[in-house]
Amino acid sequence: MTIHTVPRLPSINSIRVRLLLVYVGILVVGFAVLALVTGQQISSAARVDYENRLKNEIRLIAQGIRASITDATVSDGTFDTLIAGYEAEIGGDLTVVLPEDLDRRGPPGQQGTGPRNGPPPNSRFDGAPEIESALRGDVIVIQRRDSSGHDALFTAAPVIEGQQGPRAPVIVQLSVPSSNLQRLVLERWVSLWLLVGLIALLALIAATLLARSIIRPLDALRESAVQLAKGDFSHRVAYNQKDEIGEVARAFNEMAHQVESMLDEQRAFASNTSHELRTPLTNIRLRSEALRYDDSLDEAMGERYITEIDDEANRMSGLIEDLTLLSRFDAGRAELGENQIDMAQFAASLKQRFWPQLTAKNIRFELATQPDVQPVLASLNHLTVVFRNLIDNAIKYMPGADGGQITWMTSAGVDGVCSVIQDTGRGIEAEQLPHLFERFYRADKARSRDIPGSGLGLAIVKSIVDAYGGTVSIASAGSGKGTTVTVFWPYRPVALTSR
Ligand code: ATP
Ligand code: MG
Repeated sequence: MTIHTVPRLPSINSIRVRLLLVYVGILVVGFAVLALVTGQQISSAARVDYENRLKNEIRLIAQGIRASITDATVSDGTFDTLIAGYEAEIGGDLTVVLPEDLDRRGPPGQQGTGPRNGPPPNSRFDGAPEIESALRGDVIVIQRRDSSGHDALFTAAPVIEGQQGPRAPVIVQLSVPSSNLQRLVLERWVSLWLLVGLIALLALIAATLLARSIIRPLDALRESAVQLAKGDFSHRVAYNQKDEIGEVARAFNEMAHQVESMLDEQRAFASNTSHELRTPLTNIRLRSEALRYDDSLDEAMGERYITEIDDEANRMSGLIEDLTLLSRFDAGRAELGENQIDMAQFAASLKQRFWPQLTAKNIRFELATQPDVQPVLASLNHLTVVFRNLIDNAIKYMPGADGGQITWMTSAGVDGVCSVIQDTGRGIEAEQLPHLFERFYRADKARSRDIPGSGLGLAIVKSIVDAYGGTVSIASAGSGKGTTVTVFWPYRPVALTSR
C-alpha cells in the first residue's frame, strides 16, 4: 500500500489563514469605525480647546495693552514692539481698533443712527461679529475670510470699555489663520491613527499567536494520522490540554489504541488458528505416512491410526465450524432465528443428549426450571451451541470419574429468561476469569493439556448471546470450588425488536 503524506493545505483554505483573515477584517473595520467616531469627537474638542485658548489669549493681551495705554511712560515705539511680541507668540495678527475706527457705529444699541464724522463707510470692522461682541464686553471666536481672502479665526476683546473715558471704546482684534487649527486637528488625527495602528498591530500579533496555538496541535494530530496510516499504531498524540482539541486528541489516541488492540487480537487469532489447524494436520500426515510406507505396521496399529485420523479430521472440521460461526457473528452476517423455544423442554432434551458422558463420569445432573417460563425467540441451532458448550465445559472440567453435580436452573425475569449452570468441578482461579471469553484462551494450560478443546467454546457463546442482546458471565470461588455460568436471554432479542 502506498502511503501519501497529506499535502500542506493551500494557503487560502488553511484554518490559520481563514482565522487571520476574519480577525484582520474585524479588526480593520472595527478600528476604522472606532477611529472615525473618536476622531470626530477629538476634532471638535480640539476646536473648542483652541477657541478657548484664543479667547484667554485675547483677554490677556487686552489687559496688557490697557496697562501700556494708561501708562504715560510707554512710547509708541514700545507699544508697537509689545504688539509685535504678542503676534509672534500667538502666530496671528493683532489690530487695535480705536474709537475713531468705530466712531461711525456709535455705542452699542445706537447703531445705524446715521453717519457721523470718522472713518469712511465700509470700514473692515463694520459689522464684524467679534467686534460687536467685544463692544458688549463678550469675547467670541468667528471663522471667516480675512482681508486677503484667507480663511481665519477672529476674536476681539475690549481694551477700554465705552463707559470708561473719553477715548473709549478701544478693542483689540486677533486674527489667526485657520490653518493653525487645521494643523492641530491633523496632529490629533495622526496620533489617533498611530495609536489605532499600534493596537491593530498588537491584536494582529495576538491573533497570529492564537491561530498558531490552535493549528499546532492540529498539525500534531495530522502527523499522528499519517503515522497511523503508515502502520505505526503505537503512535499517540502528545497533547494533554483540557480544551476541545485535547478532547479530539484523547479520542484519537483512544481510537489508535482500539485499532492497535484489534489488530493484535486479529494477529493472535490468525496465528492461533493456524497453530490449531496445523496440529491435527501434522497428526494426520504422520499417521497416513506410516500407513503408506511403514511395512512393519500390524493390522491393529493400522486400525488405530485410521481411527485417530478420523478423530483428528473430526476435530478439524469442528474447529472450522466454530471459526466459521464466529466469523459470521463478527461480520454481523449471522441470521438470528425466530423459533419459539420453551427453555424447560430445551434443557430436558439437551440433558438427554449428554446422558452418555454424564453416566460415564458418574455426574448427577439436576434441572430446576420455574414453571410457565415464557418461550424465548432464537435459532434452535444457536441456543444449542451456547448451552452445549456450557454443559460440555461443566462435564469436561469435572475432575476424575468419581462423580460431581451439575445444576441447571431456569427462571423467568421481566425481559427474559435467566439460566444458571452450576457445577462442582475444578473451578477457575480469579485472575483467569477476565480472559475466559478470549478466543483460544484456555485456563490452567498445564491441567487442560489432557482435556480436548481449543479455547473457542466460550468465545462463541459470548458472540451468540451478545448478538441476541443477552449477557453471559462466569463466576468461581477459585480452584476446586466449582463454577457458575449465568446466561440472560431476552424474550425478544434486541436485533429482532429493532427490525
Ligand atoms: P472448546 O470449548 O473450544 O472445546 P475449551 O473448553 O478449552 O475448548 P472454552 O469453552 O472457551 O474452551 O473455555 C475456556 C477455558 O475456561 C477452559 O479451557 C477452562 O479452563 C475454563 N472453563 C470453562 N468452563 C469451565 C468450567 N465449567 N469449569 C472449569 N473451568 C472452565
Ligand atoms: Mg469449552
